[in-house]
Amino acid sequence: MALIDTHCHAYVSAFDADRDAVLRQAFDAGVDRLLLPNIDADSVDALLALSQAHPDRCLPMMGLHPCHVDADWETHCAPILEALDAHPCIAVGEIGMDLFRGRQTREHQIAAFHAQIGWALERDLPVVLHVREAFEDTFAVLDQYTDTALRGVFHCFTGGRAEAEKVAGYGSFCFGLGGVTTFKNGGLDQVVPHLPKDRILLETDSPYLAPVPHRGKRNEPAYTALVAQRVADLLERPLAEVAILTTANAERLFRLPAFTPAAP
Ligand SMILES: [Zn+2]
Repeated sequence: MALIDTHCHAYVSAFDADRDAVLRQAFDAGVDRLLLPNIDADSVDALLALSQAHPDRCLPMMGLHPCHVDADWETHCAPILEALDAHPCIAVGEIGMDLFRGRQTREHQIAAFHAQIGWALERDLPVVLHVREAFEDTFAVLDQYTDTALRGVFHCFTGGRAEAEKVAGYGSFCFGLGGVTTFKNGGLDQVVPHLPKDRILLETDSPYLAPVPHRGKRNEPAYTALVAQRVADLLERPLAEVAILTTANAERLFRLPAFTPAAP
């Protein structure tokens, strides 16, 4: 079984004590590749160090997370943009809109979102979207790009049927499914069976949002396998089929070569 954790912050300090063991467990669980979304200017170096240590397995993405957008967002973006062009980044992310903690930075978030969508379009890269309590603003932004080649993924998709239909209507966006699919109160059991099968990606968002039975503890990329099993149960399909499907979907969106492990 070959899985891809399409959203994993394995470079953050929560893994400093045992990162090699965490990666080994992921690889042993069949999680061949980890896609690494950036957070802010301070996280760039650690992210690049991890991707350079495992260039075929840990693939870098670059962007400014909406929770770290403020009036100085253009300053924060400078080293991120530099890294985007200096390294083999496979996407612009994570970017988007987050109004969970209030609307004070809303206008800056919208401006930073547009700017980073521009980065993606100029480079023909997908965008990895973080959307929290902000579907309305996010859709208002994306509606302005329907005549472009913009493509991407709604990471940790937590919308309902209406939001899923809107996303599916864009035609070029995927749904990132993670630990929330395993939560009893997550609501996704009503949504996942209706998603277009060729748009489903697996992710963990490690170290956050661990799936059941690890909920509340540190999440790890190996748990992609638990998410895969849950998605298989919701789709009423065999696990192996979901693995093949979601890996193919990720390879298509991010234009990844098929994975062949390096000789030992
Ligand atoms: Zn994330």
